Amino acid sequence: MKSAWSWSVVAFVAAAISVSVWAQGTDYSKIEFAAKKVSSNLYMISGSPNVDVNHPDAAGGLVGVLAGSDGIFMVDAQYAQVSEKLLATIKQISPAPIRFMANTHIHPDHTAGNPFFGKMGVVIFAREELREQMVRPPRGGNGNAGPARDPAGYPVVTYGMGAPVKLHMNGEVIDLIPVRAAHTSGDTMIRFENANAIMIGDFYRNYGYPFIDRANGGTLNGMLEGCDQLMKIAGPDTVLIPGHGTWIKRTDLVPYAEMIKGVRDKVKELMAQGKTEKEVVAAKPTAPWDAKTAGGLGAAGADMTSADRFVSELYQELKQN
Ligand SMILES: [Zn+2]
Repeated sequence: MKSAWSWSVVAFVAAAISVSVWAQGTDYSKIEFAAKKVSSNLYMISGSPNVDVNHPDAAGGLVGVLAGSDGIFMVDAQYAQVSEKLLATIKQISPAPIRFMANTHIHPDHTAGNPFFGKMGVVIFAREELREQMVRPPRGGNGNAGPARDPAGYPVVTYGMGAPVKLHMNGEVIDLIPVRAAHTSGDTMIRFENANAIMIGDFYRNYGYPFIDRANGGTLNGMLEGCDQLMKIAGPDTVLIPGHGTWIKRTDLVPYAEMIKGVRDKVKELMAQGKTEKEVVAAKPTAPWDAKTAGGLGAAGADMTSADRFVSELYQELKQN
């Protein structure tokens, strides 16, 4: 067992690395991929640590690959700068043609590679809301709309909040399960029934505090609903695979939802005392959870920790309602 002292050294080194990564920016040429097996034909591909300024734990979003003689079904598409490398990693798993892709949500670390795969003839599935966010990007915090996406990467098959879309291939049943506005308004969880695994996207994370992307329609209540929905869908042994960070079981959702509610209530209390957003952030309402939240005090922007970002999102949402 490690002593408290050596853990604090680990934390200090991790913080120093993430600061130095921020100073340099992301060098995409340094991103390498590694595949990890979930079941006989399901793999997860993740990027190198300490390269990506937004994700020092592993560059970009996780990519899922279901391989077999029916062709490849993949989940998410990483950054555009690494498409060739990602394709090479998929080809090492299986030379079969890539037929379908599903997107968990709009963020570029999950969808910027869409056009590369769309041009190869891969049919992309996603929520209607996600397609809309690609066609008409929302205004960000600076008031400017993001750049329009390359239409080659638009989803071809879209769906709303109804029953899951099912794909049957490679001996697997894949369910595209819509989640009500959580991390964004276009979230999908992807369940592999036989592998007993669910790729849950980014409404849950265990590296850094939650990110409610309000510009893209994310909501606090949707995040909590997403946790409840997942508790019901998952069995006790189902492997839950977030877009970033380590794999979990459904019981891990309980302390996560408790933390969200705990910080929310603290922010509410400070707001009731008439504090401004700046004052609420400065009061550090996440403090009781900081030691347990890996990467929580890490950078989530040039001048913001992920804890501060989460608190200001909560403030803005609570103020609006
Ligand atoms: Zn995301």
